[in-house]
Amino acid sequence: MDRIQIKRLLTETPLEELLDMADRVRKANVGDTVHIRALLEFSNYCSRNCTYCGLTAENGKLDRFSMTASEIIDTAKKAFNVGYKTIVLQSGESNAVDVDTLCDIVGEISSWGMIVTLSCGELSYDEYSKLKEAGAKKYLLKHECASEGIYSSLHDGYTLSDRIKCARDIKSLGFEYGGGFLVGLPDEDIELVIDNLLLLRELQCDMAGIGTFIPHPSTKLGGAKQGDYELTLRCIAITRLLLPTANLPVTTSLSVTGDSELAYRAGANVVMVKVTPIDYRKNYDIYPIAKHMTDIKNDRLAIVEKIERLERQAK
Ligand code: SF4
Repeated sequence: MDRIQIKRLLTETPLEELLDMADRVRKANVGDTVHIRALLEFSNYCSRNCTYCGLTAENGKLDRFSMTASEIIDTAKKAFNVGYKTIVLQSGESNAVDVDTLCDIVGEISSWGMIVTLSCGELSYDEYSKLKEAGAKKYLLKHECASEGIYSSLHDGYTLSDRIKCARDIKSLGFEYGGGFLVGLPDEDIELVIDNLLLLRELQCDMAGIGTFIPHPSTKLGGAKQGDYELTLRCIAITRLLLPTANLPVTTSLSVTGDSELAYRAGANVVMVKVTPIDYRKNYDIYPIAKHMTDIKNDRLAIVEKIERLERQAK
């Protein structure tokens, strides 16, 4: 698929038609299963200043936390015991939990047969290598924005090329690599949306998370316009066409900006459910969203019911 075809799908093709195309490709390539992943946000410390994220180091209003190794392992165990087979360990970028400790945590959780996915930001090749060696199978590191100039204005002191180098390191080490981007960041135009989609294909993402930009009041972009829900759906659907066998999550931001169930029709086949302990969950505040406060078992049951209502199989 070339730029012109992608542009047509983004701007001209009726939404229903695009969703049907993506749904057919999803069914033919990854079937009806929806994979449910546990998401544990284990630390909200971050040394970076991404202008769109509530965890930015500049946000002095946030209560910072970092779970201990035993808290992380205990929470993963609870998730494993209620049926989760994969856990995503996510944090801001900091050394609040150092890489060697993270390796021990990954090794312990993996020893039960639980798959560990990491989402802890940019690290050195050697650090990624240690984590792979410790047993981590997948790594999420979205490129966020495929324009060097806009990327640098959103991430003061950091470059898109460094981000892409990390993505290539992750891939070369044999991780399943999860990329992705935000829809609706300031200064985005349709050509940048196309660049974002094509970069997912160029990086040969095994997973791709596409979220809508939602302004957080305690960030520099607090007054910016929210990203467009339908455009996000279109991006998910086109990603399914570009990467037919990839795992595509229903991103949480879709439930804030519109009907998240439509993402399943747009080709999504993964959903992440927070298992972060309630006391910490309220402070993992990337963007403003009502924090869901039940428990690990009931949250999983609720999502299984939802998936079955959509006539898909939960796994
Ligand atoms: S997007 Fe990630 S790296 Fe940037 S401030 Fe938020 S948690 Fe930190």
